[in-house]
Amino acid sequence: MTIRLGFGAIFALLIAAVIFCAVRGIKSGKRIGRAVGWVNFATIIPLIGNLIIIGSTIKEIAIVGCYLYYIGMDMVMASMVFFTSVYCKGIGNGQQRPTVMYVILGVDAVQLLLNTIFGHAFTIEPVDVHGYVYYRMIPFWGQNIHRIIDYGVFFCVMLIFIIAIIKTVKLYRERYSIVLLGMLIIAFWQTFYIFSRTPVDRSMIGYGVFGLLVYYLALHYRPLRLLDRLLSDIVSNMNEALFVYDAYGRCLWMNETGSRLLDLKNDDTENVPAGLKKMFGDREYTKEEWSENKILGSGEDARYYTIENHNVNEDKKHLAGSYLVVRDNTEEKRRLKSELYKSTHDSLTGLYTKQYLYQCISVLLHEDRETEYSIVFVDVKNFKIVNDVFGSDFGDLALMQISEWLSTNVNEKCRYGRIAGDTFGVLIPTEKLKADRQKVEDELLNFTVSSNGLEHRLLIHIGVYEVDDRDMDVSVMFDRAHLALSAITGNYKEHIACYDKDMRKKVVWDQQITAGLSEAISKHQIMPYLQPITNRSGKVIGAEALARWIHPQNGFMSPAVFIPILEKNGLIVEVDRHIWRCACEILSSWKKQGNDMFISINISPKNFYYIDVVSEIKALVEEYDIEPKKLRIEITETVMMNDAQEKFKLLDELRNDGFIVEMDDFGSGYSSLNLLKDMPVDVLKIDMKFLSSSDNDEKARTIIRNIIQLSEDLHITSLTEGVETVEQYSELSQIGCKLFQGYYFAKPLPRKEFEEYAFPRAS
Ligand code: C2E
Ligand code: CA
Ligand code: CA
Repeated sequence: MTIRLGFGAIFALLIAAVIFCAVRGIKSGKRIGRAVGWVNFATIIPLIGNLIIIGSTIKEIAIVGCYLYYIGMDMVMASMVFFTSVYCKGIGNGQQRPTVMYVILGVDAVQLLLNTIFGHAFTIEPVDVHGYVYYRMIPFWGQNIHRIIDYGVFFCVMLIFIIAIIKTVKLYRERYSIVLLGMLIIAFWQTFYIFSRTPVDRSMIGYGVFGLLVYYLALHYRPLRLLDRLLSDIVSNMNEALFVYDAYGRCLWMNETGSRLLDLKNDDTENVPAGLKKMFGDREYTKEEWSENKILGSGEDARYYTIENHNVNEDKKHLAGSYLVVRDNTEEKRRLKSELYKSTHDSLTGLYTKQYLYQCISVLLHEDRETEYSIVFVDVKNFKIVNDVFGSDFGDLALMQISEWLSTNVNEKCRYGRIAGDTFGVLIPTEKLKADRQKVEDELLNFTVSSNGLEHRLLIHIGVYEVDDRDMDVSVMFDRAHLALSAITGNYKEHIACYDKDMRKKVVWDQQITAGLSEAISKHQIMPYLQPITNRSGKVIGAEALARWIHPQNGFMSPAVFIPILEKNGLIVEVDRHIWRCACEILSSWKKQGNDMFISINISPKNFYYIDVVSEIKALVEEYDIEPKKLRIEITETVMMNDAQEKFKLLDELRNDGFIVEMDDFGSGYSSLNLLKDMPVDVLKIDMKFLSSSDNDEKARTIIRNIIQLSEDLHITSLTEGVETVEQYSELSQIGCKLFQGYYFAKPLPRKEFEEYAFPRAS
């Protein structure tokens, strides 16, 4: 009875535990959880079978327990196969499904059930144990088949576990070997039962415990040793030095980086506190949580560290230990420093970049409000030519030489850098600039770059802006210093110019002119005035078209006011095209009236850069159906300065087409009598102004006489402009001048007035 009660209680408890595990396993939602659940569920059936066998005194009930027990064992084996296939997944080389085993176990279950008909597998017989009746099984051949099958499957499963243990890495062996051990225990226990032939299969306890074991192993167990190993590997290979302390401040362990940092042997933890103290100074390293940045050494050799101490608490009150992390940030700091350097310094000259210079200037202007400062804009003239002619290496050398020169002219109160390709910027105390001005001028007078036998004198111009408003944008300050450059005249001794307020006004004015141009043209606010040109007898034979702008606000504007501005930005092209067209219109209407006069038009040298002058002019005379010789072309000798041969060709082309080409302002600039003999021109316009300004009238007269004589020899018609007096007129006539233009005859006149003046009959 005690056996019955004792085993009954154990089995009942086991059943409860196994059910719990089965439900939890299946509910876990994982495949392995389901496999574990099935092992547990399957185990319940033979457990119940055994419970029935133990408990029953009635043969019929006991035999039901037997069936449950045998068939339940088949189910246990099937669930073990399923569990193994999931638990040992990845060990085998294939994904074979254990279907054959399920079929064999199924056949065995059927075979056992057939025992009810054939009685070939087992029967039961009552035995007396201490006066109590128990039923125990008597096996027949069918039962042997069942055992062979179950053992066979069981051994296969164990074999898979053995293979798993052999194949897997050491760390994971535990996972398989515990399960295998459990299986071996059950196998032996079961075998013992078979031979002992006791009514109670005690090995069933083993199955139950096994179910619980796999539940724990598969779902809850984390191999601690594995975790330990992985963690210690990670920590050992960390870039940070790690020192682990116990609660009493004794160092227990350090990683590789730590031992390298303190230059200690790996296990020499005893000397860690002394090592840290020597390296980072005396302080309480453990106990409190803290962190600090430390710099050891200085300058290029400086090393940067971050030290942190973290506590590990067992609970809220008790400290379990602590760990100290030392991070070496030196490489990172150096990288950042070099990146910062690169982003703030020009790679060629090593000077500050534009952005950084502006930033530094702004800071200094606000920090040092005592000192008066000036902004200096340094510009290398024609640097493109230096690069083109001497090569970019030479150009680079020139820039480096300039930057060196700058550095010799600054002090600690200056900031300087490279603004763009060939421009540099400096912030300098005004006093220093004034004191050094002559020295700088002298140095710039002969600034020569030489390398490998090449030598070139650089023309460097300097624009200065005296800072009067420190809150102004630094870029605007530089704009102003840049603007000052425009005040540098052609004097070769002059390299420095200062910004003044008029310059700004001029810029605004220039902008106004430029912005208003296209409207002025379309509204005919810009128009030609005509200045008569006469022959020796004073008869008007033609006119020069001279642009005038009747501005709605500024009133009458002479070309001297707007033409230089438009020549600078190339918009002169628009004015000229407009005047040419007006001239053609006038010529066309004169033609209809039967007036046989010509008009000379001015062609700015800039036009040759921007447009095809020859074809535009040809197209115009065609459009207005006028004779080319009525539209005279005035060019200045500056046109010839670039590519004279090419320009000669263009002029030849015009002359071949019947145009008359006039050389304007002869004598004003680079005029060379030598050039005159090659120049394909029909008329030479000599400007009296240039000659009359000369102190020596006699000398001027000689020059004019010679020019007129020479042009005669070359079959070029001479025209003197700027004739203001009757004396001039008569004298020039005597010398042999053919044509005249000047205030003596008339000023440039509006079309109507000109027509009244030139064609008195028409009025
Ligand atoms: P320029 O072509 O040499 O024109 C002659 C200038 O001398 C004109 O000045 C004229 O008014 C002035 N002048 C004529 N006779 C006398 C005189 O007896 N005494 C003095 N002191 N001056 C006299 P303006 O009209 O002010 O033109 C100045 C310059 O502007 C012109 O010099 C020309 O280079 C340029 N210009 C005028 N109109 C145009 C144009 O439509 N297109 C281009 N590209 N330039 C033009
Ligand atoms: Ca002219
Ligand atoms: Ca002229």
